[in-house]
Amino acid sequence: MSKVIGIDLGTTNSCVSVLEHGEPLVIPNDEGSRTTPSVVAFTREGDRLVGQIARRQAVTNASRTVSVAKRLIGRRYDDDEVQKSLDLVSYTIDRADNGDAWIQVDGKSWSPQQISAIVLEKMKAIAEAYLSEKVTEAVVTVPAYFNDAQRQATKDAGRIAGLDILRIINEPTAAALAYGLGRRGHERVAVFDLGGGTFDVSILEIDNGVFEVRSTNGDTFLGGEDFDNRITSWLVEQFAIETGVSLVGDPVAMQRIKEAAEKAKHELSSTTETEIHLPFVTATPSGPLHLMAELSRARLEGLCADLIDRLEGPCRQALSDARLKPANLDAILLVGGMTRMPRVQEKVAQIFGKAPERGINPDEVVAVGAAIQGSVLKGEVKDVLLLDVTPLSLGIETAGGLFESIIPRNSAIPCRKSKVFTTAQDNQDMVRVHILQGEREFSDDNKSLGHLEMHGLPPAPRGLPEIEVTFELDANGILLVKARDKGTGKAQSLKVISNSGLSDGAIEQMIGDAEQFRDHDAERRNVAESRNRLDGLIYTTRRSLDEYSELLDVADDRAIRDALTIAERAMTARDRATVAHAHEGLAVAAQRIAESIYASARNGPSSDDHGGNGPTLALGGELVDDE
Ligand code: AMP
Repeated sequence: MSKVIGIDLGTTNSCVSVLEHGEPLVIPNDEGSRTTPSVVAFTREGDRLVGQIARRQAVTNASRTVSVAKRLIGRRYDDDEVQKSLDLVSYTIDRADNGDAWIQVDGKSWSPQQISAIVLEKMKAIAEAYLSEKVTEAVVTVPAYFNDAQRQATKDAGRIAGLDILRIINEPTAAALAYGLGRRGHERVAVFDLGGGTFDVSILEIDNGVFEVRSTNGDTFLGGEDFDNRITSWLVEQFAIETGVSLVGDPVAMQRIKEAAEKAKHELSSTTETEIHLPFVTATPSGPLHLMAELSRARLEGLCADLIDRLEGPCRQALSDARLKPANLDAILLVGGMTRMPRVQEKVAQIFGKAPERGINPDEVVAVGAAIQGSVLKGEVKDVLLLDVTPLSLGIETAGGLFESIIPRNSAIPCRKSKVFTTAQDNQDMVRVHILQGEREFSDDNKSLGHLEMHGLPPAPRGLPEIEVTFELDANGILLVKARDKGTGKAQSLKVISNSGLSDGAIEQMIGDAEQFRDHDAERRNVAESRNRLDGLIYTTRRSLDEYSELLDVADDRAIRDALTIAERAMTARDRATVAHAHEGLAVAAQRIAESIYASARNGPSSDDHGGNGPTLALGGELVDDE
């Protein structure tokens, strides 16, 4: 049975884990790191880079380097959160035809799903390299506070990446699973998850292997990036005060400052003061300018005080929804890199009245939980049951633009609930059910998920028809809506028009594109390997030619030199055929060198003049190797 992997698809970093012999294992990537940056870059030549290599070149290729796609996934372009992102990223975010936020690189549009798919594909490849087998199934985590559209979009990303996503689980729930595996007894835990882009808090009850989420809350737009941006703005401001030069419009400088800001933030988690040096940050007519600043932990905390304060509301709400007081909690688990910041830990201790647990790796615990859930779904891990909840109420729009909840927030999933509605006008032959998610009284203030239309109602006075609307929420937190006319009981034609997300056709197209890219990558690797071989052959041929040219007749010498010229030109070719053709031509021509050497050895005074000659043997090796 092939393995199910657990993937924590993070805003900043992703992590992949698998259970081996019942023990969770975090799989390191090809560079030996246990987490991989969720960064995708496109080079000027059209190559695609993922992970550390993409992150490393972000400074010099800022407009083609896509990070934090998770902040855009499943969101409309007009979304406040997307609008806020426009100034924070150095690539272009655009409105797609369906109104979603898409990414533009060199005139090509990419959905955030496609970018996430590239990251997922990378995590899949990391696992496959380690396990030496194909991986097709995964459990992927999302912030508990992700709505239906964001979950659906994450699932679509999996499909594009060629992964069957068995289950989407909430990050805090995954963390609790990892913490609670093998623990017996009854515990109430709060999971506080502050990552690169999002903040989640969940309260769970763990009872002898049953993990029940009691409540969940959070802020999908509060995370480490906001802290980085505060430091970045401060640095830019300081620089402007000192030099009179604004760096705002300089993407390379801004990217460098952003990276330095994040590094300083990390350092200030273990020291109280740090220095930021960016030599040659910009050039002016009077010469280059350097950025130098000192940042103390106290100042960082001052710059981010309001962000820290925003952590409190969701925690209080989660406690109140779970009908618990801080004193009822047995443990507080910290998840996400940002929880390494001392001020964040202090805030957690202040809110919950106790110090958080130690000994849990906040970067890995979510992926580990996902791998455990994968094994639970496969029946490999028994005695573990996960009962999750939906983070936001789901309902429909009723007369006057009001929002009527059908599944209230924090309901256990999977679940199914129905309500009966009626028509607002006489002889209404069609109803349009507007499906929404959120906690506000009016539909306009909530997130629209889509519409479902029911046609062919018989003529009737208003208020008479009884239309039953059923919401089914699956274990992934993904919604299916049905409407039925109770009066006629007849089958009705139902059509769901999704407001957002990708149609099946678009996903199929993207799967095709991704496969094409995989082929393209494989082809590029082939070309690179062929070029390496050709390079070796050019080198050995040149050396042999220098050494033995006097043994060659003029025609052979000419033919070899011509073949060398063609081969050198082919070194810049991007297609395998040209490179292979040049290799073949040169190999055939170069054989004349060996033939002349042996002919001369047979005829010459001493047979060991050139015997055992390195380059000639290497040349022979090349020829055999290539065939
Ligand atoms: P995650 O999404 O869980 O990978 O969290 C990544 C976030 O944690 C990023 O904003 C990082 O800058 C931040 N982070 C990682 N390590 C530290 C650290 N030592 N101190 C403060 N923040 C950190």
